[in-house]
Amino acid sequence: MNEWKRFTREPKIAYFSMEIGLSNEIPTYSGGLGVLAGDTIKSAADLKLPMVAVTLASRQGYFRQEIDPNGWQREHPRQWRPEELTERLPAKILVTLEERDVKVQAWLYCVKSPTGGEVPVLFLDTDIPGNDEQDRRITDQLYGGDSACRFKQEIVLGIGGARILEALRFTIRKYHMNEGHASLLTLELLNRYRRPLEDTWDERASWDTRRVMDQCVFTTHTPVEAGHDRFPYPLVQKTLGEIVPLTLLQELGGKEELNMTLLALNLSRYVNGVAKKHGEISKALFPGFEIHAITNGIHPFTWASLYFMDVYDRYLPGWANEPELLVRVDNIPDGEIWEAHCGAKAYLFQYIAETTGEVFDPEVLTIGFARRAAAYKRGDMIFSDLQRLLHIAQGKVQLVFGGKAHPKDTEGKEMIQHILQEIHALKGKIKAVYLENYNIDVASRLIPGVDLWLNNPLRPLEASGTSGMKAALNGVPNFSVLDGWWIEGHIEGVTGWSIGPPPADSILSENRGEEDADDLYKKLESVILPLYYQDRPGWIRVMKNAIGKNAYYFNTHVMMRRYVTEAYLR
Ligand SMILES: *Cc1c(COP(=O)(O)O)cnc(C)c1O
Repeated sequence: MNEWKRFTREPKIAYFSMEIGLSNEIPTYSGGLGVLAGDTIKSAADLKLPMVAVTLASRQGYFRQEIDPNGWQREHPRQWRPEELTERLPAKILVTLEERDVKVQAWLYCVKSPTGGEVPVLFLDTDIPGNDEQDRRITDQLYGGDSACRFKQEIVLGIGGARILEALRFTIRKYHMNEGHASLLTLELLNRYRRPLEDTWDERASWDTRRVMDQCVFTTHTPVEAGHDRFPYPLVQKTLGEIVPLTLLQELGGKEELNMTLLALNLSRYVNGVAKKHGEISKALFPGFEIHAITNGIHPFTWASLYFMDVYDRYLPGWANEPELLVRVDNIPDGEIWEAHCGAKAYLFQYIAETTGEVFDPEVLTIGFARRAAAYKRGDMIFSDLQRLLHIAQGKVQLVFGGKAHPKDTEGKEMIQHILQEIHALKGKIKAVYLENYNIDVASRLIPGVDLWLNNPLRPLEASGTSGMKAALNGVPNFSVLDGWWIEGHIEGVTGWSIGPPPADSILSENRGEEDADDLYKKLESVILPLYYQDRPGWIRVMKNAIGKNAYYFNTHVMMRRYVTEAYLR
């Protein structure tokens, strides 16, 4: 019962994230941000870092995706019961919302590593008898509801989370905000560290912003102005009251509206973007702030298919906790790499047959594209000239798609529908499927099972991207626009291939749709298909380079060691 108390013995890094994707059992994630948070926590456990994670219970999950016969996305609740998978912690704290006291409780899930490391994860929950019916629903739906509901969720996460940690007697040495959703925790700390008025010469000086800054680390994930969470002050005041004076809040979070990114920037000693390019873009978006860059990663043990795990275990023992060993991939014979890949491919094709009835051909180059269905990711780009695609690829290429659109993202849903229409138009000529309900389990089967991982977002909107790293770890080369992590991982023809021009120095996203599509077709026809079909040893060389020059570095073990030395220990 009091098992959790062992976690409070040493000071911790508190990692706050609106979404965390640890496994499919706990569906409290929507996409890359949540999966990154899950992978971060798993690596922290492997490395025995003193960390505690805080997130929302999201009892209704994000959603389960169904695609109706018209190609339109339908959403269904994806419930989970913390009661069944976690332990209820004894502490309950209060937050004040619209002048009502709302009770918040926490459920403990423990991420255990084979190394003996453990990271506790606290899932915050307002579904408690005694709370108003409307307040019991606050932590139901990840990214559900309107702006007022989102603000309440962020209060529960930031302020509720900081209070729960204190009530449970955790000692926190750093608070790490994974994206701006948790920024309100800075206001809780401001209040906690307020100097007595009689000790200071004025009201403003009683607010010890430096002390809060010393405790806070902030990672921004959004490369566009519009992507940052903002709330109008009337809503803020009505919901939150005056937790700190409005003038101070405006000084820290923006004059016109409360900008959660700005609030975190102003109250964190260390701030970073999630790839080198994204660090630069963030600096341009927020001039005057020192913004560093720590490139994202993926958790090696989670994302290696069973086929590659087996090969790595035999040739590079210890690889999972020391992924740098993958640099020695050349010790693995080509035949073993190819065989492992064919195993993963057959495993995916079995899933495709079971879920769609389509029988894919193991001899044919298979291209994968799956991620959140947001318009900027341009999932339908490969269809921009169907005649040209047919001319190049008929009989030589198969396509697998997947991804969910946010329930309110009509453009994203239209993109899914468009992809399905094109899949239909290609029937009998090019085999293509859209796999429903993309999630961690589908991703673990889809990504390792294709031959080539396609990514063609609109620059510079892909802050980092992580699915391409999952591909590289499984010997699947990337074919991607030069954005996010791929600017750092790409060596043309060696680790994979680029699409379109080199990253412009300009931070403006120009729509180079036609140029990118043209390059995609050209390279597919003149470089990629000939290599795959006519020079298999050459192809396997690229697969090995994806492992030895991308996967050895772009993982959450390397990433966490950087957070420790560059952010947490400062
Ligand atoms: C890795 C992952 C993502 C992120 O994909 P990107 O290509 O980086 O956007 C999204 N959803 C799931 C389920 C994932 O596993």
